[in-house]
Amino acid sequence: MEIKGEELKVLFTEEQIQNKISELAEEMNEFYKNEEVIAVCVLKGAVMFAVDLVKSLKMPLKMEFIRLSSYGSGTVSTGKVHAVDISLPDLNGKNVLIIEDIVDTGLTAKFLLDFINNNFKTKSTKFCSLLDKKVSRVTDIEPDYYGFHIDDKFVVGYGLDYDGYFRNLRYIGYSDKAI
Ligand code: 5GP
Repeated sequence: MEIKGEELKVLFTEEQIQNKISELAEEMNEFYKNEEVIAVCVLKGAVMFAVDLVKSLKMPLKMEFIRLSSYGSGTVSTGKVHAVDISLPDLNGKNVLIIEDIVDTGLTAKFLLDFINNNFKTKSTKFCSLLDKKVSRVTDIEPDYYGFHIDDKFVVGYGLDYDGYFRNLRYIGYSDKAI
């Protein structure tokens, strides 16, 4: 299976994504008021989303980046989460906002939440994912904030890749041929 750029169909346009980010940011600005937040961006997929989202957040904020991976080079999850780089500062007493691209099986989210809960006593830990693919969920993880629900499609663009490609697209797309 291979995804070609010319066969991609648009699932969410740049405008839809940016409008959704504004809505999410408004909710977060309301929730956190002026309390400091540590935003943890899960690389590489969440990079575009995290960067756009934090630009609309008004509270004092620090950004951290960690790198996890669960997909191999294809479109089916390996079911195993691999911490490529999970070095984080002291999160005790902090408001932690995890920013992910997509929750699929939920294994990555569970791995990360367990890691944070086992190592720190945070003031609050919230999980924000741009996309929520509920159909393949094998954990009881639900994001506290999400942008869009999607059905069982393999999506690319706006940070999400296929074999490393398509992260640079401004929109989120899919190919009918990717199963
Ligand atoms: P989970 O651990 O929830 O199964 O998967 C989370 C990770 O799998 C995401 O951070 C993302 O990297 C990858 N992933 C899951 N679904 C998709 C998808 O439809 N497209 C892409 N490009 N990556 C996906």
